[in-house]
Amino acid sequence: MLGTHTYSALYSEICYAPMPQNFVDLDDVQDRAYAAMLGVAIGDALGATVEFMTPSEIQQTYGVLRDIRGGGWLQLSPGQVTDDTQMSLCIARSVAECGWSLRDIADRFSDWLRSKPPDVGNTCRRGIRRYMYYGSLSGPLCDDDAGNGAVMRMAPVAIASLADSRLLESWAVEQAHLTHHHPLSDSACVHVGSLLHLACLGRSRESLRQYAQMAVNQVPAFGYLGYRGLCTAYVVDTMQTVLYHFFRSRNFEECLVNTVNQGGDADTAGAIVGAIAGAYYGLEEIPQRWIKKLNPGLVDELLYLSRRLVSRSPLGQADPIACF
Ligand code: MN
Ligand code: MN
Repeated sequence: MLGTHTYSALYSEICYAPMPQNFVDLDDVQDRAYAAMLGVAIGDALGATVEFMTPSEIQQTYGVLRDIRGGGWLQLSPGQVTDDTQMSLCIARSVAECGWSLRDIADRFSDWLRSKPPDVGNTCRRGIRRYMYYGSLSGPLCDDDAGNGAVMRMAPVAIASLADSRLLESWAVEQAHLTHHHPLSDSACVHVGSLLHLACLGRSRESLRQYAQMAVNQVPAFGYLGYRGLCTAYVVDTMQTVLYHFFRSRNFEECLVNTVNQGGDADTAGAIVGAIAGAYYGLEEIPQRWIKKLNPGLVDELLYLSRRLVSRSPLGQADPIACF
C-alpha cells in the first residue's frame, strides 16, 4: 500500500523547497491548470485514432500520427473526445458546482453511463453500475482493478486540491475507488496527481524527475528507464509509457506525438501525459492547430472549469500571493 508519510514528506520537500522567487503566481497557475485540462482533451482526441493499434500498424497507416483526425475503432469525428475527457469533465463540473462530493461525482458518472457513451472501460462500467444498483461508493479490493481508468481522470482532482498533498491523496484514492480498487491504481493516481501539482506550480523538470524517481522507488513496477514500449490499459504499462515519454521529450507536441504513436491504450496514455505536459510546458506551447480541432464549447468550458477549480483549491483560497 501507499506509504502515506514517505509520500507526503517527499512531496513537501520538493514542492515547498525554497525557490528563487518565493511565491506562486496565481495567474500562471491558472494558465497551467487550463493547459492541463486542454492536454487531457487533446491527448484523448489525438490518441483515439490509433487506440488498440500496434506501433507498426500506425506506421503503415499514418506514418507518424501528428494531427487530430478522428476515425479509429470508434469512428470518431475529428476532435471528438472519449471517456477519458468525459469522466474528467464529470469530476470537474461536480467540484466546480458542489465542492468535493463523491456522491455527486458518482451521480454524474451514472448520468454519463446512461447516455450510452461509445467508449466505456469494463472496470468503470462495473463500478458505476454498482453505484447505480447499491449506492456503494467503493468496491472491494480487486485484483482485476489495476487498469488505468481511475488515473485518466486525475487532472481535475489535482487542480482542485492545489497545493495540499494530503487532500490530493485522499481525493485521488476516493474517486479511484468508485470504479477501481487496487494498490497500483491508487499509487498511480496519487503520483500522477503529485506530478500535476508540481507542474501546475511551475516546478522544474528536475523537481518532477526527482519526484518520479521517488515514486519508482516506492513502486518499482513503474520504473520507466528500461521501457519496453508496451502501452496497454494495465496501469503499470500506462505509467511507464507516460513517464518515459514525458521525461524524454522536449516540448508538448513531441511528447504527445511520441506517446500516442505507441498505440495500445493511446487515448488514455495521451490524456494522462497531455495533462502533465500541458501543465509543465504551459499554454503557449500547445499547438493551435490541435486546439482548433476541439469543439469550441469544450475549450471554453475547460477554461471556465480550470479557473473555478483553481480558485476553489486550497491554493486559490490562500492569500493572493501564496508564500511557501
Ligand atoms: Mn477513451
Ligand atoms: Mn483508452
